Amino acid sequence: MSDSYDVVVIGAGPAGYPAAIRAGQNKLKVACVDEWRNTDGSYAFGGTCLNAGCIPSKALLESSELYQRAKEEFAAHGITFGDLKVDLAAMQGRRAGVVKTMTSGINALFKANNVAGIQGHGQLEPGNKVRVKAPDGSERTLDAKHVVLASGSIPIRLKTVPHDGKYIVDSWNALEFDEVPRRLGVIGAGVIGLELGSVWRRLGAEVTVLEALPQFLPMVDQTIAKEAQRQYKKQGLDIKLGARVSSAAAAGKAVTVAYSDEKGEHSVEFDKLIVAVGRRPFTAGLLAEGSGVTLDERGFIEVDEQCRTKAPNVWAVGDVVRGPMLAHKGKEEGLMVADLIAGHYGAVNYDVVPSVIYTAPEIAWVGRTEEQVKQSGRAYKVGTFPFAASGRARAMEAGVGMTKIVSAKDDDEVLGVHIIGPMAGELISEAVLAMEYSASTEDIQRTMHAHPTLAEALHEAALAVDKKAIDGLNR
Ligand code: FAD
Ligand code: AMP
Repeated sequence: MSDSYDVVVIGAGPAGYPAAIRAGQNKLKVACVDEWRNTDGSYAFGGTCLNAGCIPSKALLESSELYQRAKEEFAAHGITFGDLKVDLAAMQGRRAGVVKTMTSGINALFKANNVAGIQGHGQLEPGNKVRVKAPDGSERTLDAKHVVLASGSIPIRLKTVPHDGKYIVDSWNALEFDEVPRRLGVIGAGVIGLELGSVWRRLGAEVTVLEALPQFLPMVDQTIAKEAQRQYKKQGLDIKLGARVSSAAAAGKAVTVAYSDEKGEHSVEFDKLIVAVGRRPFTAGLLAEGSGVTLDERGFIEVDEQCRTKAPNVWAVGDVVRGPMLAHKGKEEGLMVADLIAGHYGAVNYDVVPSVIYTAPEIAWVGRTEEQVKQSGRAYKVGTFPFAASGRARAMEAGVGMTKIVSAKDDDEVLGVHIIGPMAGELISEAVLAMEYSASTEDIQRTMHAHPTLAEALHEAALAVDKKAIDGLNR
């Protein structure tokens, strides 16, 4: 095979592999280079998301939630049984199996779309050449008309909290624990910290989350954040706000953590400590001298609205560029770039990127929070609807949480939709589609929703915006 390509993608995570597939669909000659190696030594496509992020975390969230529901909810359904036990090895085996199925699927998709999948480290050299170092140490150079950089991100580490992978761990290690820690500490009450804290809490750990900021989930609409805080507390997650960790040290089988809050200095001991303080763009060994690609002060590759870097015909997508570090945001960028390279139309609407926190209840939102709209000075109206009044949610024994819509007072445009409750991550798609088409509240009000479904809670919130809710009180 010749080593000249129309497109070479570096990175096969959820930003890079869709870019490669779409390039193949666009009849471009494409290769995708990836160096990901799993803890068992195997190479796999799929990046952080499939191997160590979205997918394994959702597998464990599902298993642990089923256990929790069996323990606490089944009796309400009239279902009783003998001993309920967790076989963690089997649970982890299922998690690994789900990951393997999904990552193997990418090989099949590459084949079907004529993508040359190449395992190895890629480096961009001047003149759109990609130097690839294979796992066996051999090297070759690929010539490319276009290069797409999709090298992703890695966890941020704190200097004073030395990572050892066993006691002081990152999110990847925490997905592969082989026993349930008795006392688990989590630094950071962000999305990843809350999801991992929930998994191990449900499986029996005492979980303490230490969060430096005084406000809980500042990026979330505060009506929803307050409800979430109440629910997590009920579940036994001990979330300490305004608690800044200054250091941690592992000795013997315990980790001692020092943190300060408004009451002073504290020391607390855990069996394991997860550091979940965010992620940073990963570009180590990616750019050779003179590549022409520039980084901003935080290490992100600098790109324009359409993901062009400063180097001609070099593009960058996903976590390695500005914007929310989310798989679906990276995917849309990857597709846009592959279409633009082929001379087709391509764009990403950054105003309607949905966010989901996969705890129970789930939290999901799109658009602006009430606080943001208020701050913008635009006159607005709000409608909410509690899942307690949803027949379907009640039938599911899941009548917790609410839907909330924030709309403009002048032209009725939907500005933000916020959900905490059952299947919030699925329900938000309707709101994303509505906002993508600049829907008004009235558009949602006049759209028929099947009964009885959870989606009716969104319909009722839209009605409530104009005090026309049928199944809830209009306050
Ligand atoms: P990555 O997925 O990080 O992939 C980059 C790939 O490039 C990797 O395979 C890497 O090995 C490879 N690479 C890097 N440099 C080179 C090089 N020089 N040569 C060859 N290969 C290279 N997001 C969601 O949207 N939903 C979720 O539910 C969700 N859950 C998450 C849970 C956890 C625990 C974590 C850690 C993250 C989660 N995320 C979630 C975030 C999501 O994983 C990332 O946003 C997403 O993976 C970013 O995709 P990417 O393709 O930009 O980068
Ligand atoms: P996210 O960026 O959403 O993944 O969330 C990471 C969280 O970790 C943020 O809310 C930070 O405020 C928090 N954080 C960062 N450093 C510390 C620290 N030293 N102690 C406690 N919390 C921290």
